Amino acid sequence: MAIQPQLLEILACPICKEEVRPVPLSEAKRVTVRDKFRDKMRGEELVVEEGLQCVKCHRVYPIVSDIPVMLVDEAFEEA
Ligand SMILES: [Zn+2]
Repeated sequence: MAIQPQLLEILACPICKEEVRPVPLSEAKRVTVRDKFRDKMRGEELVVEEGLQCVKCHRVYPIVSDIPVMLVDEAFEEA
């Protein structure tokens, strides 16, 4: 389920425009993200294990079923 290096290279924090690095999400945050996105994905079972952390502001953007969600509203302050 690892994110592709080519994709990682083009992704950036929407606030800082800095690079992001994969980090594991805590169990609590995995559950939070799964619950939040389940409705949007029409009840489909989602895989949430990692996020992408900005090297500058340290916000963490969740990866939902291999799709990086690079939205400020969905970001955590830390992993
Ligand atoms: Zn940032």
